[in-house]
Amino acid sequence: MQPAKFEFARARSLGEAATILRQASGSAKVIAGGQSLGPMLNLRLARPSVLVDITAIPELTRIEEDGDGVMIGACVTTSDLEDGRARVDGLPILATVAAGIAYRAVRNRGTVGGSLCHADPAGDWLPVLCALAAECVVTDGSRVRRVPIQGFVTGAFEVMLEGAELLQAIRIPRPSRAARCGYYKVSRKAGEFALASAAVLFDREGERFRAVIGATQGRPIVVEDARSILRGVPQPGGAVELDATAAGALLRRAQLPAHMRLYTTALVRAAAQAMA
Ligand SMILES: Cc1cc2nc3c(=O)[nH]c(=O)nc-3n(C[C@H](O)[C@H](O)[C@H](O)COP(=O)(O)OP(=O)(O)OC[C@H]3O[C@@H](n4cnc5c(N)ncnc54)[C@H](O)[C@@H]3O)c2cc1C
Repeated sequence: MQPAKFEFARARSLGEAATILRQASGSAKVIAGGQSLGPMLNLRLARPSVLVDITAIPELTRIEEDGDGVMIGACVTTSDLEDGRARVDGLPILATVAAGIAYRAVRNRGTVGGSLCHADPAGDWLPVLCALAAECVVTDGSRVRRVPIQGFVTGAFEVMLEGAELLQAIRIPRPSRAARCGYYKVSRKAGEFALASAAVLFDREGERFRAVIGATQGRPIVVEDARSILRGVPQPGGAVELDATAAGALLRRAQLPAHMRLYTTALVRAAAQAMA
């Protein structure tokens, strides 16, 4: 199929993008890498009057690090992270996750921001960035607000952006030097979308042990204290044991009992990576 007719604009600044979005009163759509939006246009699941390309806006392709964390522009691509253009100290997990997404041609175009805004529950970035307690920096060209990533995605394929707002960047607080993050996705073939996934952050210094279950039917499930589903006090190099009763109850509450084994496998493997 072919997309319905649309106009195309290439914004050079956040203000310009916001103005186009405002003028179109909800009928315009932002395009970044086009890896998800492209097929939706072709299938006519999206029929915007105007497409606003945001990839030439300088702020959106920047990666800035300071003592407290790293700011990743929304249009930084998955390949950028895979190749270490954005070598983020203390966060090797970003390159590892990037390498497991689709195949190189998709990674060259697909952006981290586009993945979050598309909010496919099976996507890889959302659970990992939830485990890292990232924040989304949202702007309408003049006002900027920061939203915890868990609040940014409101459901399957739904985010909290309003009116002329777009995602400008993702801010990841720097974990302590002792922190480790693990991610595991269960998929039919390497690089495919997850059937089940989990991310675990284990930070001995910061005393954080957060687990996130992804590829749910909506938002990821965030367990702030993973000791409620993983037995015993975690030790570096220690064996990871699942509390099957507690994990089962959690998955049943989230209406995920059908593939429970896939989720618990992802969880235990992600936790083992985080404690290795
Ligand atoms: C064959 C294939 C396999 C894939 N496999 C995986 C996989 O295994 N794991 C995985 O995680 N992903 C996978 N993806 C998704 C891919 O990695 C991209 O992350 C994803 O397509 C979205 O990024 P994009 O930059 O292409 O966004 P686009 O397609 O350009 O946009 C997606 C949506 O987000 C909106 N948007 C984009 N950027 C912004 C912004 N800054 N502010 C506001 N709204 C915005 C758009 O309006 C649109 O609604 C796959 C894609 C393909 C085509």
